[in-house]
Amino acid sequence: MTFSEIIKIYTEKGLPEREALLLIGKVIKQKKEYIIAHRYDECPKEYLEYIFELFEKRFNGYPLQYILGEVEFYGRMFYIEEGVLIPRWETEGLIDICKEYVRRYDLKNIIDIGVGSGVIAITIALECNNVRVYGTDISEKAIALSQRNANRYGANCTFKCGEFAEPFLDLFDTIQLIVSNPPYVRTDAKLQKELNYEPREALFSGEDGLNFYRELFKRYNLEGKIVVMEIGDDQGEYLKNLTGGHILKDLSGKDRYLVVDKFWVV
Ligand code: SAM
Ligand code: GLN
Repeated sequence: MTFSEIIKIYTEKGLPEREALLLIGKVIKQKKEYIIAHRYDECPKEYLEYIFELFEKRFNGYPLQYILGEVEFYGRMFYIEEGVLIPRWETEGLIDICKEYVRRYDLKNIIDIGVGSGVIAITIALECNNVRVYGTDISEKAIALSQRNANRYGANCTFKCGEFAEPFLDLFDTIQLIVSNPPYVRTDAKLQKELNYEPREALFSGEDGLNFYRELFKRYNLEGKIVVMEIGDDQGEYLKNLTGGHILKDLSGKDRYLVVDKFWVV
């Protein structure tokens, strides 16, 4: 069977050719460009079984990124694995907002709550000069993966397992910026099937999806701090009232980020 014939089996299911190229590439250990250049060559027989095994996973809705083991975020590749949320493109907007605040006020100490794969914390550490980024997550697996991703880039980050900012209470007073992409999905929300493979504690936050925000703003004295968080597209109004912050939109024009800088005193 040629690569071209294999790809056709994949795209006939309505899935993108690019994915087929990446999956075949993973099995035969070549870049997708190699397969494009050799698309009319026979695929060595010993690879076929594994390729179709991976295709079958995708046909059942298993996320591509978990199969590939890597995902791109803000122009860099990060390791990803089952049990940890796959970073979303909207989350890159948090980085732009944080970079602007770090630059404007020369911020040094930052905490990312709910790091997942560590993409937010690590990207901020790499994009901004002289910052120290702390990160927490309730998932041990997420913390281990974040550490692995930080090591990959030599990022100036410290990760600890625990809820909210609890693992870093001793230095909480020195924190100037809190960033977080928390779970914000309603418990009863109907999700596309890909999401069934992702950890529930990364996505869901109570009946209205707002438990995490309420708890964070109740639990801590945020004086002297800026808070930048991702939100659900219909949660802006509520969160503006709860926190006195303002809402920014993502690239598709939906309410996506909450920024509270009233606690910050220059
Ligand atoms: N920051 C990553 C990203 O943007 O791709 C992951 C975000 S995911 C939506 C939320 C993360 O928060 C999950 O990794 C979950 O384990 C963690 N989490 C949930 N509740 C938490 C809590 N109370 N304290 C700390 N982390 C929490
Ligand atoms: N944007 C995610 C989704 O696919 C939700 C992420 C989150 O809860 N932080 O619904």
